[in-house]
Amino acid sequence: MKIIIDENACIGCGLCINLCPEIFVLQDNNIAKVKSKEPCDKNLHKIASQCPVNAILIKD
Ligand code: SF4
Repeated sequence: MKIIIDENACIGCGLCINLCPEIFVLQDNNIAKVKSKEPCDKNLHKIASQCPVNAILIKD
């Protein structure tokens, strides 16, 4: 699985970080990034679908 964040689209709302802090982290510039590619037990597709600007792309 590959997780990609579109840094140009992310508005730094923090939702993905709140839902899955094991995978996502907010950088100093207020843009989310993927800190771990380890599989997590959260439903990443669901988290991606909740991003208000569709900045999270999941490739299986
Ligand atoms: Fe950025 Fe989307 Fe995560 Fe919000 S949910 S911080 S907009 S990637």
